[in-house]
Amino acid sequence: FKTRPAPPADIHAKTASHPCFGEHACKNARVHLPVAPKCNIQCNYCLRNFDCMNESRPGVASKILTPAEALERYMKLKESMPNLTVVGIAGPGDALANFEETRETLRLIREYDADITFCIATNGLMLPMYVPELKKLGVSHVTVTVNAVDPSVGAKIYQHINYMGKMYTGTEGASILLANQLAGIKMLADADIMCKVNCVALKGINDRHIFEVTKQAAALGAFMTNIMPHIPVRGSSFEALDRMTNMEIKAIREVCGINIKQMAHCRQCRSDAAGTLDEDISIHLREKPAPKT
Ligand code: SF4
Ligand code: SF4
Repeated sequence: FKTRPAPPADIHAKTASHPCFGEHACKNARVHLPVAPKCNIQCNYCLRNFDCMNESRPGVASKILTPAEALERYMKLKESMPNLTVVGIAGPGDALANFEETRETLRLIREYDADITFCIATNGLMLPMYVPELKKLGVSHVTVTVNAVDPSVGAKIYQHINYMGKMYTGTEGASILLANQLAGIKMLADADIMCKVNCVALKGINDRHIFEVTKQAAALGAFMTNIMPHIPVRGSSFEALDRMTNMEIKAIREVCGINIKQMAHCRQCRSDAAGTLDEDISIHLREKPAPKT
């Protein structure tokens, strides 16, 4: 595949030490600070839980932190974890649908630590609006989840989107989302912010369409794509949809590898994950939820 232009040296170094973006950085740790509870879209496979002690998947966190609490958690972790290289904001909703909290958290941490790498994850709906500010805040890595580049496929995946105070559904909603995702990815590349495109593989819905997603991601300047199987969650609209097997995912990645670099080591982490990708220590940081009455 056509390789994108090399990033500036500082961004290259941050990429190499990022446990998800770098190929040889598995000994480094990251922390997800769960400061972003709201989401501005509804994916049919998603159910966000806030009090879950045992589940390990995106969208799950035991407690939402305020920006001040997030700084406190970071400072505590940094003392005991010299290999901590990345602060990420990955929900449990959408980092940009909670931009006030995301911005304040990053501002406080940057005051305390000038070097730590900032990484955020988003569905991309608000990306074109916020790329310049993300750059100013020192965000060097962004993950955008793009499950389709054709609105008719997107309409099967997204129940609705909430954009500028109005709700959109069907192909109309999907068209707005996809247009913003693609414009946002191009803006990230132009701003020298490294972009990973996540794509949730949904059997019979978008699995034959992922090649096209990866092709467009590459054309817009994304760094790599991360194709992962959806996790069937009880209570979500796609709870009955079969999860794709590891072999099926591997086969899709192999085909898409002609378009763009593939990530193969994603652990589909919680929104409050901490530690190396293999040793999530976030369980030790969690407070026990109050007993249900
Ligand atoms: Fe859930 Fe993320 Fe989709 Fe929002 S964008 S509904 S948090 S999976
Ligand atoms: Fe990295 Fe995947 Fe975990 Fe995100 S979910 S921190 S990309 S391993």
